[in-house]
Amino acid sequence: MSEITLPVYSDVAAAAGRIKGHAHQTPVLTSRTVNEEFGAEVFFKCENYQRMGAFKFRGAMNALSQFSDEQRAAGVVAFSSGNHAQAIALSARLLGIPATIVMPSDAPAAKVAATRGYGATVVEYDRYTQDREQIGRDLATERGLTLIPPYDHPHVIAGQGTAVKELMEETGPLDVLFVCLGGGGLLAGSALASRHLAPDCVIYGVEPEAGNDGQQSFRSGKIVHIETPKTIADGAQTQHLGQYTFPIIQQNVNDILTVSDEELVNCMQFLAERMKMVVEPTGCLGFAAARAMKNELRGKRIGIVISGGNVDIARYAHFLAGN
Ligand SMILES: *Cc1c(COP(=O)(O)O)cnc(C)c1O
Repeated sequence: MSEITLPVYSDVAAAAGRIKGHAHQTPVLTSRTVNEEFGAEVFFKCENYQRMGAFKFRGAMNALSQFSDEQRAAGVVAFSSGNHAQAIALSARLLGIPATIVMPSDAPAAKVAATRGYGATVVEYDRYTQDREQIGRDLATERGLTLIPPYDHPHVIAGQGTAVKELMEETGPLDVLFVCLGGGGLLAGSALASRHLAPDCVIYGVEPEAGNDGQQSFRSGKIVHIETPKTIADGAQTQHLGQYTFPIIQQNVNDILTVSDEELVNCMQFLAERMKMVVEPTGCLGFAAARAMKNELRGKRIGIVISGGNVDIARYAHFLAGN
């Protein structure tokens, strides 16, 4: 394997400068009810209010704004059916870069429409017979496009880290931080920011129970691959951590926790009812893990990243009515 250079805190700080004026500085919200329930001070960093509805805009914008003139002229390609697609499409439109997004032909119509709405060209593939990474790589080679992956890229990781940088600059150093974990771009970036701004903060990554490849990897010391997990947390249905994200997580994160889909639904209901927030299932991972261990958190100052709010409205209604 070729040598790689891992991003560091100064890359997160540089990313913050680059995305300023494009990304929102999202609100940090608190809830008296939550503070009383925990006997602690809990700060929610609300990336559901980020542009396009999730933190992924930060990493995409940071990556695309570093393209050379040739890269800008040729364009960007990404493969995703979720928030990364919209993040790349919106960033590309803002920077005047042509974008091609590879999406499964059975992707929700609303997501395809949103991606096209940002001006991107959508290339469909059959998820059962075709390999999207291969299609993405072929497009990149044939048309000279630059491929930006959803998490395993130093500029993406540095961009994602700006959310926790903003959080801790607002709240001061925290004692414990809970971050959702899919492929690890958000967790790795958050860990770089947190280790710099609050060296003693305990950092937890949180995965869906059914897709605990990150926990297995963290505990065994090597990247574990799994089948696409069945969970309502569709933003965390990744099969493995990456060559950039894993070492940063290994070096800086204290542990990886898991929560069940049922706990995610309870949190979605709570956040809607008490805090009037629409949060997608994946966005509830951090809060669900914190609630499960709240007895150990008494008296602490706690940060929770709410990662996104993009959920199909009929599906959301079903979750709120459910159980
Ligand atoms: C992508 C995503 C995640 C997981 O982020 P990774 O960087 O892949 O770990 C979590 N929540 C939401 C809303 C996402 O879109």
